[in-house]
Amino acid sequence: MDNCIFCRIANRTLPARIVFEDDRVVAFEDLNPQAPVHLLVIPRKHIASLRDAAPEDEALLGHLFAVAAEVARARKIDSKGFRAVVNNGEWGGQTVFHLHVHLMGGRIFHWPPG
Ligand code: 5GP
Ligand code: ZN
Repeated sequence: MDNCIFCRIANRTLPARIVFEDDRVVAFEDLNPQAPVHLLVIPRKHIASLRDAAPEDEALLGHLFAVAAEVARARKIDSKGFRAVVNNGEWGGQTVFHLHVHLMGGRIFHWPPG
């Protein structure tokens, strides 16, 4: 989608600090990091939110989280622990309507989040 900033990052028409990519997903640095490590992992396919994922996206969703874990290992935030969050819809705090996993680490997180 031309008007979606995360589609544009995935197809490299909008610059971002990409840290990992393969044929199905892209991981890049969040523009406004909320932790020492704050990455976003997105599918190349435009899926607006988890609510919009279809049954045929099941393997892609699994891959998204598998890559998040792999990137967490690569960035060495896995041993202490990290947070992988998907905000969904207005009340869920979603502001960019292309599905993304926030991968955050390098500090202690609390529960429940605000
Ligand atoms: P949401 O609120 O939808 O869960 O998260 C959207 C995230 O995207 C926010 O953490 C925000 O900082 C990040 N973001 C918004 N626009 C851009 C952008 O143009 N580039 C990058 N790298 N991150 C962005
Ligand atoms: Zn998109």
